[in-house]
Amino acid sequence: MKKKYNRKHHDGRNRHHFLLPKSRGGDTSTCNLLLFDVERHRAWHDIFGNATAEEVLNLLTRVVRAKKVQKVET
Ligand SMILES: [Zn+2]
Repeated sequence: MKKKYNRKHHDGRNRHHFLLPKSRGGDTSTCNLLLFDVERHRAWHDIFGNATAEEVLNLLTRVVRAKKVQKVET
C-alpha cells in the first residue's frame, strides 16, 4: 500500500512538490512527492508552472538543440 501525502510531514524549510501535479491527475502517494527547499519550490513554479520535470527537460533539450543551429549576429 502506498503511503499518502500528509501535510504534517513538512519541515520548516522544505515543502512537498508533486512530480505529477494533483491538478493534472497526480496522486498523493509518496512516489509522487519530492521534498523541495521552500524558495527553490517557489522558483520552480514561477519558472515552470505546473510542468513536470520530464516536460522541463524536454523543453531545455529543445532550447539547446535550437541554439546549435541558430546564428546570433552581434
Ligand atoms: Zn510544487
